[in-house]
Amino acid sequence: MTKVRKPAVVVHGGAGTWHPERSQAGLEGVKKAAKTGFDVLKDGGSAVDSVMEAVAVMEDDGAFNAGYGSSLNIEKRVEMEASIMDGKTLQAGAVGLLKDVKNPVRLAKIIMEKTDHVFVVGEGAEKLAKIFNLERRKPLTELRLSYYECQRKALLDGKFELQKLAGLIKNHPELFELETVGAVALDKNGNVAAATSTGGFPLKLPGRIGDSPIIGCGTYADNQAGACSATGVGETAIRLVLAKTVCNFMEGGKTAQEAVELAIGLVNRRILATCNSMGLIAIDVHGRIGAAHNSPNLCWAYVTSEKQEPVASLTAKTVK
Ligand code: ASP
Repeated sequence: MTKVRKPAVVVHGGAGTWHPERSQAGLEGVKKAAKTGFDVLKDGGSAVDSVMEAVAVMEDDGAFNAGYGSSLNIEKRVEMEASIMDGKTLQAGAVGLLKDVKNPVRLAKIIMEKTDHVFVVGEGAEKLAKIFNLERRKPLTELRLSYYECQRKALLDGKFELQKLAGLIKNHPELFELETVGAVALDKNGNVAAATSTGGFPLKLPGRIGDSPIIGCGTYADNQAGACSATGVGETAIRLVLAKTVCNFMEGGKTAQEAVELAIGLVNRRILATCNSMGLIAIDVHGRIGAAHNSPNLCWAYVTSEKQEPVASLTAKTVK
């Protein structure tokens, strides 16, 4: 007989710097998302549905760099991306280069469940969104437009070369609001899932794909290990296949907390310090949760079966 697990969900609203004037909105947003994800689990829903609904709440919020409120690329346009993974089947779905799909994470789930593929971007993805009648919404917000103008000014002031984002981050860390969203969950049946959604790195080149939609880098889930969602400089997570690395640590017997701390330690050792800001959340197959970062903040929240109420914070274990 399968053992009934105590469900739990962890969400993040991004690493980077959360300024005081916006931090309340961030905390409220992650709490709402965690509660939504937990309600799905409490009603006997799956980990996959839990992470999808939790991420969709943050995509609709406007406080995060995902869905509505996504960051702008260098051409002042939004290109959103998202992914989802089911730890039971290792099925996964991912989307990229989306212009106006309201909830990229819902499209990622459609790719996972209704196609033979894992990753579909651009026009093809938009076409599927149409076929499946997904809602549309212009993701541009005043907030992101104002960020864009500041970032562009720094760029024009000669503070950075396009290929060397590191220089800009070093001189203007406050400009880079890494507010990607993600969720990991364990359901009653012992299944884990993960999902991540983002507008991507501010001022990115058109066509640039980050870690968030890449399975193994921004998102990974495996019932034999656990689930992980990443936020931060996508190129760092890609180079270290970070979400899968966290899952490998859990498969090897580490708790979720030990695994994320080990992975951030790895980032610190292996990737140039000016461009390695990362945050990670994880859940292991026993329902133990983990969160760690080397970034100034990690906006995150969780709900466990014990407490049933969301607990949110702007920091977790900082690994330096
Ligand atoms: N990881 C995202 C990216 O590089 C950014 C973020 O986490 O905010 O696209």
